[in-house]
Order: sequence, then C-alpha cells, then structure tokens
Amino acid sequence: MRIESYSDFLSRAKTEYEHAADDAHFRPTDHCFFCGEPLGDDLVMWQGCDDRAQQVWLHRDCAKELGGRLICDALIHKYRIC
Ligand SMILES: [Zn+2]
Repeated sequence: MRIESYSDFLSRAKTEYEHAADDAHFRPTDHCFFCGEPLGDDLVMWQGCDDRAQQVWLHRDCAKELGGRLICDALIHKYRIC
C-alpha cells in the first residue's frame, strides 16, 4: 500500500472537496452514520472510491470520534495488541 505525503493528501482532499461542492454529487442521508441521530447543518461527508461512490454522512463531532476509533483499530491491528 502506497502512503501518500501529507501535501499530496491535502491536495487530493481539496480536489475532492471542490468536486463534492457540486450539489449533483451530494446524496445526504437523514441520519448520522455513526450515532444514528438526525443530521443538521454541521456535518461531514466522506465518499468511497468504488464505482458506486458510496457516501457516509456524519456530525462533525461523530466524524472526529469515528476517526479516532479507526486509528485505534488500525494501531491495534498493526501492533497486535489484542
Ligand atoms: Zn452523529
């Protein structure tokens, strides 16, 4: 797996954000992917890269929580902590 540089990541994220800014690409859900509560205006969307371009919609705080848990899971797997 290729690890991209931080500047490459930022460049790609900016491009993806600009692409997502086109309303035709938004397919918001009614509820947060992480907590299941209704979504408001303070949200984050992440889109997969498969052919279906699946999207995950979350509250911003839930995105931070999920991100931390994903990193934790990855480190547990990497170092075989459990
Ligand atoms: Zn949430």
